[in-house]
Amino acid sequence: MMRTPSLEQLISQRVLGTYDGPNAGPTYVVMGGIHGNEPAGALAARAVLDELARSSLPLRGRFIGLVGNRAALSQGRRYVETDLNRGWRPEDIERLMAADPATDGPEDAERRDLISMFNELESQSDEPLAFFDLHTTSAPSAPFACASDTLRNRRVIFSLGVPVILGLEESLDGSVMGFLSDRGHVACAVEGGQHDAPLTRVLLEVAIWRWLVASGAIDAKDIPDFEARSIKLQATAIALPPVVEVRYRHGIKPGDEFVMNEGWESFDRVEEGERLARDKRGEIRSPFTGLMLMPLYQSQGDDGFFIISHVPRWRIVLSRWMRKMRVERWLAFLPGIHRHDERDDVLVVDAKRAGPRLELLLFAFGYRRREPGDGVVVFSRRRPWFLGRAEPMSSNEGL
Ligand SMILES: [Zn+2]
Repeated sequence: MMRTPSLEQLISQRVLGTYDGPNAGPTYVVMGGIHGNEPAGALAARAVLDELARSSLPLRGRFIGLVGNRAALSQGRRYVETDLNRGWRPEDIERLMAADPATDGPEDAERRDLISMFNELESQSDEPLAFFDLHTTSAPSAPFACASDTLRNRRVIFSLGVPVILGLEESLDGSVMGFLSDRGHVACAVEGGQHDAPLTRVLLEVAIWRWLVASGAIDAKDIPDFEARSIKLQATAIALPPVVEVRYRHGIKPGDEFVMNEGWESFDRVEEGERLARDKRGEIRSPFTGLMLMPLYQSQGDDGFFIISHVPRWRIVLSRWMRKMRVERWLAFLPGIHRHDERDDVLVVDAKRAGPRLELLLFAFGYRRREPGDGVVVFSRRRPWFLGRAEPMSSNEGL
């Protein structure tokens, strides 16, 4: 009988464990605890590693479990000084690499270590890594998944059996998932439920198995009790829309004194104008009718809440078709839109024209990241670059 290691034992090393399947294939990287108050992911990854080894399961490729913010996990806090799931933008990484490691704060050291880990994993494989980031939330929530909105990612996350949130990754600034997506890897994340709920770890474990199947790492029939386990996860999603998208993010700045009103859970219905939270400026009301996502009930974190709305199936199908047919070549002919001079993943839109209808059109092509500029709104999307190659992937499959 294998003894279950304690959390302290688990986080004493960066690598939870590695399992090499009998057949060649990509490297599947699962990370738990990039937020230190979310240990359930590391525990779930470890349970999967144990089962892979115990039953010698026929994995095609290598499975590796990583621990995220070890310093914060040992203190049971989201982070020690800065959020480890931020600060992964190219300019952040450049700054970190130019700095003296002796001056690193706790999260700088963690990030530096993870970067060398990713570099090593990249150098060992000719194929993109498959990356799965495991999270949990402060409020009660049914599990859900997110990834940057590329067709390659959609194929994986739409098969997990939980609601998919499009546009969440794009609305976070400098997440590790965005960093890996930009390097051409297939990166997804799952939120397994409330941090300390006993079921959360179990559901994350099921999510990892389903992710492995969805990614082509193993056949469902080779995983013991796959169907019975899957039902546990799928049951949490019965009453929920399969695909939703982020319409609004309420970001918090230091000193805002943000307090979420009591009683909100992810996927609760929200009416336009409804009171949701307050800060030093007063009441915060919902700008849209939609569904609540990730209301913040902990002191650390810079996302107050998100408002999401259901994406009907016809829009998913249409957007896939339009991407495959490269309809987006015509976007820059619309009035008030032009493509960025140097970057083919960026569209610059006249602010007067950037209404909700145009937004939905751009979402269809994966342009989900919005940044207001001088009289314009800049829309960008994740580019399916592959391992630093100078050209985007030749096939439009990845878009
Ligand atoms: Zn998290």
